[in-house]
Parts: sequence; structure tokens; C-alpha cells
Amino acid sequence: MEHMNRRDALAIVLRAGGMALGTGAAASLTACASSRRTGQVGKPIPSDPTVASVPPHTTPQGGGWSSPAPVDSLPAGVIPRAQWARGAPRTWLADPMNGVSQITIHHDGMSPFYDTSWGAAARRVESIRAAHVGKGWADIGYHYTIDPAGRVWQARPLALQGAHVKVANPHNLGICVLGNYEQQTPTAATLRSLEDLVSTERSRLGVSMAAIYTHQELAPTACPGRSLQAAMNRTRSAGGRLARI
Ligand SMILES: [Zn+2]
Repeated sequence: MEHMNRRDALAIVLRAGGMALGTGAAASLTACASSRRTGQVGKPIPSDPTVASVPPHTTPQGGGWSSPAPVDSLPAGVIPRAQWARGAPRTWLADPMNGVSQITIHHDGMSPFYDTSWGAAARRVESIRAAHVGKGWADIGYHYTIDPAGRVWQARPLALQGAHVKVANPHNLGICVLGNYEQQTPTAATLRSLEDLVSTERSRLGVSMAAIYTHQELAPTACPGRSLQAAMNRTRSAGGRLARI
């Protein structure tokens, strides 16, 4: 699959109406750019296009994924998408996840975000969902988002493959920290929730520490921003909190 360069990324953002989110062109360049999967054409449309219509988690042929993940359940404390999303996933546009083998950390790359209110975070997650759906994607591209207060919001159901690293979406769980970490630093609450969520999902789904990535470690992008990248480097290193919990 071809790489998406910055010009392509900007073009996609502009085509998708990214400006409607209130982000300038400069901010769009640092946004987390991803792509919907390909090869979706021709799939039958389920009679009931809801999460429940997704086939149960199965082991793919030749897969050998060791974790029959409880993808229908949420880790404790995660806010269900029903509490913020204004639309259901268009499941017929997404592949099933069929097991998680890596986790990737992002920022949303829009304007800096400091608001710790429930409503502001809910609106921001919904704006990302709407933008991604506007690109023709199945749903918001990430599986979880985390806000400045440390709340964790369910995003795309884990039963569905995400759309957050163009070259590496299969079996890749995407977590997006709301805000722009080129221009701000993550709060202590955000980092703690991020570490707890990664640790929980790593254990639950059978993902190795070596398979915890940031977006820029998989593709040429500024995502998740300098300060969040630095925080991820610290917490994954020997003695870091994520390495210990
Ligand atoms: Zn990203």
C-alpha cells in the first residue's frame, strides 16, 4: 500500500471538509492522517447494520491469534459510544478485527484542547467521528479516545478493524488522545488513563510490550506530537510506568 505524503494528507483533509472542524491548513498538516481500508466494495449489506450484526470474533484462516478477545465488553470505566455518538458504525464498510496484535497511540492533531468538561470532550469525539464518516469511512477511525480529564471514550467497536494507520490497520487497536501534542503537553490524568488503558488492553488481548507503537513509529507523520511521543518513550522504557504495570 502506498505511503501518504503530507501533500496527499492535506488534500484528503481538504477534500473531506476538514476545515469545517475549525482547523487551519497548518494544523491539518499535523493532524493524524489515516485512511479507510480498501477492498470494501461488493460486500453485502447486513440486514441490521449495527454492532450486533458483526460476525462473532473468529480465528482467521492461518491466523493463529492467541487471544479470543472479549471484544463485546468494555474495560471498566470506559464511556460507551452510545453516550456520545450520533450515528452507529456502518459495519458493512469495515473489516472485522479478528484479533489484536498491536496498539498504536495518536493525537487528534487539531487545535490544543484543555477543556475537562464531559460535554466538550463528547463534542470533540463526535466531530472526529463525523469527519471520518464524511470521508466514507465506517465510523470514527480509532477504537478509544482519551480526554484532558482522563476519561476514556469508546470509539469504533473493537470487533471492527480501525482506520488510523494507513499502512498498518489490520489487528491494530487505535487510541487517540484528544488535543494537539505538538502544541500542548498531556495532563497527568490523561497519561495515567492512557497507561492504564494500554495495560488493560495489552493483557486482555494478548499484545506484547514491543507491539505498543506511536503513529510516527509506523508512518511518516508528526502524530502523536512531540510531547506525547516523549511521554510514550518514557513510560515504555525500563522503569517507566507502562513497563511496570
Ligand atoms: Zn495518528
